[in-house]
Amino acid sequence: MKSLPKVLISMLALLAASAFPYELQRLPDKGTPVKWASKKITLSVSSSLIEISPAVRGDWKPLESIQRAALAWSSASGIEISLEESDAQSISPHGRKGDGVSLITIAQTPENLILFTGKNVSRPAFTRIFFNGKGRIIEADVVLNPYHPISTDGIFGAFDLESTVVHELGHVLGLGHSDVLGASMNEVSARNGLYTIPFTTYRTLSADDVAGIRALYPEFSREEGCCRTIAGRMTGDLPDAGEFVVWAEDLAEGSVIASVRRSANGEFRLEGIPEGDYRLFARSASGTSGAFDLGIISTEVGEDKAFEIDPEPFDARAGFVQAGFNGQLSEVSVPVNAGRVFRLFVGGAGTLDHPRLEISSPKIAVEEGSLEVLDYGKDSIVLSFVAEVGDAVSTGDYTIRLYDGDKLIDCLVGAISVETEVNPWVHRDL
Ligand SMILES: [Zn+2]
Repeated sequence: MKSLPKVLISMLALLAASAFPYELQRLPDKGTPVKWASKKITLSVSSSLIEISPAVRGDWKPLESIQRAALAWSSASGIEISLEESDAQSISPHGRKGDGVSLITIAQTPENLILFTGKNVSRPAFTRIFFNGKGRIIEADVVLNPYHPISTDGIFGAFDLESTVVHELGHVLGLGHSDVLGASMNEVSARNGLYTIPFTTYRTLSADDVAGIRALYPEFSREEGCCRTIAGRMTGDLPDAGEFVVWAEDLAEGSVIASVRRSANGEFRLEGIPEGDYRLFARSASGTSGAFDLGIISTEVGEDKAFEIDPEPFDARAGFVQAGFNGQLSEVSVPVNAGRVFRLFVGGAGTLDHPRLEISSPKIAVEEGSLEVLDYGKDSIVLSFVAEVGDAVSTGDYTIRLYDGDKLIDCLVGAISVETEVNPWVHRDL
């Protein structure tokens, strides 16, 4: 069959409210994932980024930032991304094929600026991928929004170049969005200073990002024991047309390891995960039909797992939307540190008789008596609580679970990111 080049614009990324977890882009015919065939990718860095753009703020070191972002994905996937400088300014226009050069640019040319009009005004960046009929990516162009301030030194109110490029390179490699709040592929991008803290946590890949890229490129992964698969199907009467986010948490540590959304009648495949013991959870994709504990599953050496579950009826009495800190609520995880205590918030909708919170890590406790229900009006739930983050908690993303009495109602997936970078707004030391 003759291969016809096709173009994909990530339409889903245009919808602010929509999010795909590390779900891969697939060809419509056989579900072939869209990916690069080669282990080596060259990214041309436009002179518009190296020279000072009007969007640039503070001390500007673009090549170092882009290099670190590329290295993060290289070490996770085994793909080598090399950079070269280029005089090119504009993204290849929408069409069946581009110019064959994968470009990252911030130039204020008409072709680039048109991407940030209307509802896309607030987006920090845009990635356009060109691929052939076999689903092989032949070009990927990234435009940084020249209307927004961007910086490499963490200056308040600007987008962080490295975090933004980490996210866009995920798209360049073929990844979609993640529903894990602490993942770099989370659709919502934080500006520097969110929660009034120096916020560079998105520069580093989360376990979910790593699982996503390994799911796409298992052939390049150098790590032993990488890349097991857990496949399953939820049966019974499923809300939201069977569209769920399913995620795996490390059984001992409670950290989020991988997440995936599949709309195919409750079917899911978690790929690219290390061997280990996991607890699986599901949450309705719309966030309005509750969460469910799918149970414990182990992957052993060289073995993939498949199972079928018939969950109890989902309980839709309340749903989570946001995490919060320092008086701000956002769909981005809150960075905290081991051995310290922080006051956190969660926000959502619905009504609960006996709200109770738990954290997925056995080493992060909700301080007894600290839960406060804040009055944000009818059908709104805003809870404040004190989280005691134990000394021995590993870095990673942890889930906040909401209960009504003993009944699990919803989960905010990966909403607490344990980081080594210091969050100065500590409630008290442990
Ligand atoms: Zn995106």
